[in-house]
Amino acid sequence: MCPEEENNNPEPDQQKTILSNDAQEILDIMLSLLKNGTRSFVPPDFIQENEEFKQILAILIATQDFCDALRKGEIDHLTKTKGYTISQLKAVQMELRNLIWQMKEISKGQDYAETSGSTHLTSSFNSMMGNLTSKIQKLRQSKKDYQEISSRDPLTGAFNRNALQNEFVNAVNNAVKKKYSCALFYMDIDFFKKINDTYGHAIGDVILKTFVARIYECKRDTDLCCRLGGEEFLILLPNVIESFISNIDERLRKEITEKEIDTPTGALSMTYSAGVTYFTPETEITEKELLEIINYADYLLYEAKHSGRNKSIIQKYE
Ligand code: GH3
Ligand code: MG
Ligand code: MG
Repeated sequence: MCPEEENNNPEPDQQKTILSNDAQEILDIMLSLLKNGTRSFVPPDFIQENEEFKQILAILIATQDFCDALRKGEIDHLTKTKGYTISQLKAVQMELRNLIWQMKEISKGQDYAETSGSTHLTSSFNSMMGNLTSKIQKLRQSKKDYQEISSRDPLTGAFNRNALQNEFVNAVNNAVKKKYSCALFYMDIDFFKKINDTYGHAIGDVILKTFVARIYECKRDTDLCCRLGGEEFLILLPNVIESFISNIDERLRKEITEKEIDTPTGALSMTYSAGVTYFTPETEITEKELLEIINYADYLLYEAKHSGRNKSIIQKYE
């Protein structure tokens, strides 16, 4: 005989509690409601008009509707029914609404601001966004560093041609807003090939670096200096008084040509020629229009070269 069969009296906690038929029927109804939901539930006649049952049913229906709405993503679902479960669902709903609002703001381009809330959902969101934000900041910084490196001439530290589109066009377009006049110097070192041929390329490089360093000594922070290539340079003065341009030109020439340059092969000097033009931009310009202004300054430079070098020709751009 098996040991289980010997035991005919079940333990007290395994005994089925005997309830009245009514109580048992109510429990069965409640269990069926909790298991199957309220959708197809038809209350038996005997309980239909019972006030407490009506309240229980209303709470269950409201809770079920709330859960269905949340599952469908309808986060604006409203209910007037009160109760513990409903208020917990409202708290979850509030948190979801907050997170969704935050995501919409971020997708519109707003910066991320830490969302308040202490649940796992919010803290995971905050930690994800914190991580992404720091990655985005690093990318932005890398982009800035890259732009800076790619727009600079490594030998002299001046801007290179890549900077014309952004730095130079932007500087002129800022002048439009402020109604400033601009001046553009196109400078070319005289007989530079001869310096290279006589003293070597390395000394030529020293001359180029000194040329730019001396421009930086004279120029304002807002003036832009670009090495177009070889021994040709541009300076853009985006805020200049037209009657001062020849003074600025003289000061620059003095600084660059009158001081000697110490090099390993001895003291040298250099001269340059320049075409200088000026204009007061009334509307914003494109890179193409900037190139037209540069071409005009180049034409003036050509005149300066062909009328003896070591001089500037200054003319208004019209
Ligand atoms: P001009 O007075 O008519 O301007 O004559 P130039 O000799 O200055 O002009 P040219 O165009 O004949 O020579 C420019 C020289 O610049 C030729 C080239 O080898 C030199 N050059 C270009 N880039 C560099 C550089 O990065 N370093 C050095 N050292 N020389 C360079
Ligand atoms: Mg040249
Ligand atoms: Mg030259």
